[in-house]
Amino acid sequence: MNESTSNRNLQSSFEDRFKALLTATSDVVYSVSPDWGLIYELDGHGFLQDDREATKDWKLRNVYLEDHDILDAAIARAIATKTVFHLEHRVKRTDGTIGWTSSRAVPILAEDGQIREWFGLASDITERKLAEESLKESREILEQQKRTYETITAGTPDLMYVFDLGYRFTYANRALLEMWGKTWDEAVGKGLLENGYEPWHAEMHEREINSIKATGKPVRGEVSFPHATLGIRLYDYILNPVFDEHGEVVAVSGTTRDVTDRDQWERQLKESAERLQAINEEFAAVNEELSASNEQILAVNQSLSEANEDILSAQQTIQEGKLALSQAIEAANFGTWYIHSQTREFITDARLKELFGYYPNEPLSIEQAIAQITEEYREFVSNKLENAIYNNGDYDVSYPVIGLHDNRLRWLRAIGNLIADASGAFSSFTGVVMDITEQKMDEIRKNDFMGMVSHELKTPLTSLSAYLQLLGMRSKNIQDETSLRAISQAIKQTKRMSDMINGFLEFSRLEAAKIILKHAPFDIADLIYEAKEEALMLYGTHKFIFEPVDSQIVNADRVKLGQVIANLVGNAVKYSRPESTVQISCVACNEEVKVSVKDEGLGMKRDELDKIFARFYRVDTNSLIAGFGIGLYVSSEIVKLHHGEIWAESEIGKGSVFSFTFPL
Ligand code: ADP
Repeated sequence: MNESTSNRNLQSSFEDRFKALLTATSDVVYSVSPDWGLIYELDGHGFLQDDREATKDWKLRNVYLEDHDILDAAIARAIATKTVFHLEHRVKRTDGTIGWTSSRAVPILAEDGQIREWFGLASDITERKLAEESLKESREILEQQKRTYETITAGTPDLMYVFDLGYRFTYANRALLEMWGKTWDEAVGKGLLENGYEPWHAEMHEREINSIKATGKPVRGEVSFPHATLGIRLYDYILNPVFDEHGEVVAVSGTTRDVTDRDQWERQLKESAERLQAINEEFAAVNEELSASNEQILAVNQSLSEANEDILSAQQTIQEGKLALSQAIEAANFGTWYIHSQTREFITDARLKELFGYYPNEPLSIEQAIAQITEEYREFVSNKLENAIYNNGDYDVSYPVIGLHDNRLRWLRAIGNLIADASGAFSSFTGVVMDITEQKMDEIRKNDFMGMVSHELKTPLTSLSAYLQLLGMRSKNIQDETSLRAISQAIKQTKRMSDMINGFLEFSRLEAAKIILKHAPFDIADLIYEAKEEALMLYGTHKFIFEPVDSQIVNADRVKLGQVIANLVGNAVKYSRPESTVQISCVACNEEVKVSVKDEGLGMKRDELDKIFARFYRVDTNSLIAGFGIGLYVSSEIVKLHHGEIWAESEIGKGSVFSFTFPL
């Protein structure tokens, strides 16, 4: 075969093979005019409409209207550069739907370098494009979701994260990254240890992830570990399984919350609750106490109101008593008075004035009243009154008064009572006066009778004792011992009788206020000596100790003081056993004389000691011993008239000491 033949052959075989390739390809095959105005041939391969004839409106027919611009631009670029045209664009498919094509065309150049035609292939890439678009869409949705989650998880202070089953973090929110001090890229995809967890902590979460994987159940716990900046914190966390569509656990999501503050609040809350409880309990206790004291107050109130009632009834009783008293005073015909201690105001009733011989409406002063008292009693009563008002002394006095107008003698008894005013500034001296003239006259008559009898008895007794003395002397002379003993006994008895009668006489004189002291100087030692002689003569039953007495001249009534000593010695003998000792002492010191008589006798109870000096008073237990109860009375009156004092000291069963003093 020659060269041209072989070339032709080669040529024809190339065209055949080309045609075969075009037939075999599934792509659209087209050829267009140099300016792309006409399409000469288009094999749509069922994808696009075939164009067997040269067509001008190929673009309208085949290309999606909105892609015309990019197509035109790509064509212009390819024509200008005479380079391969390539564009992916949308087309109208034979079935009327929109498809995608990837179109490539190469320029076929003439010998002069001008474009003769464009020859191209367009493949159907609809499926790929749709897939790409849906992928893009999904990506966008995913991105969107991620952004949404990111926004949510970034906004919370809670730590949020996701583990895969290999314990690696596949997600960590901003708070967690900040806590770690890491970026996303540094942390995500890493395990717990790599993210700085302590081994025990990492192991704990790995165990929990295993458990969630096995059970599909969430795990909740609390853990304490150091925060990058805040120090040791307490965290509450919950790990949840993430399931796939088959219900298999594919991941574990977690949320961790810092509960340090909550824990503190809870603790504080608990403490406050406890404090509140304690306060409540205290309140309850206080309340109880309050109610108890309330009850007490109530009880006190009740007692108060009862006491008030008592006071009221007492006041009523007092009122009634006062009434009764005033009635009694009226009935008893008492006179009453009132004296103001400061102003000496003297208020009396009509009866008192009457008792002093005044007319009922006549004014009467204290001084005027006192002036009506008989002379021998006036000073005594006046002193008693002043002493009662200003020294709260006792005031129970009896005295004779000569009435001013009626000139009548009345014996009055006045009893007064001093009451200090609440202010303390003054006192009220009030009292009653009663007419005791009748009793007094009776007493005086009895007293006079006693005095008269004593006096009458005294005269024959004096002669009797004179005769006895005479007989005694004669018996002594003729040495008639028997007569002498009998006469000496008779003398003793006469002496005792005369002492007794003297006592009565003194008593009746005292009552009639007729005792008059006869003061004269004498030596007290002499008086004691006489008392000794008499005692030794009278009382042979007892032992006597007369202490030595210094000579001392005193000015006093010798006879009456002798009577006092004789009386005390007589009592000492009378109220003690025979053979016991009676001791007499007399000392002068401190401007006074003190005489004491001591016995070893019966003694007395302490409360008797003051009473025995009252007239007619006798101690009950001594009633078997004869006596009249006037000896100590007369003695004390005599001592008082000497401005002295008399008193007794005694112990029952042991003895007594009677002492009296009088000034030198
Ligand atoms: P009387 O005549 O009863 O002795 P007095 O006035 O002398 O009267 O004495 C009064 C009372 O004092 C006596 O009754 C007696 O109880 C008591 N008394 C007086 N002296 C003594 C004394 N030395 N020892 C015990 N009691 C005495």
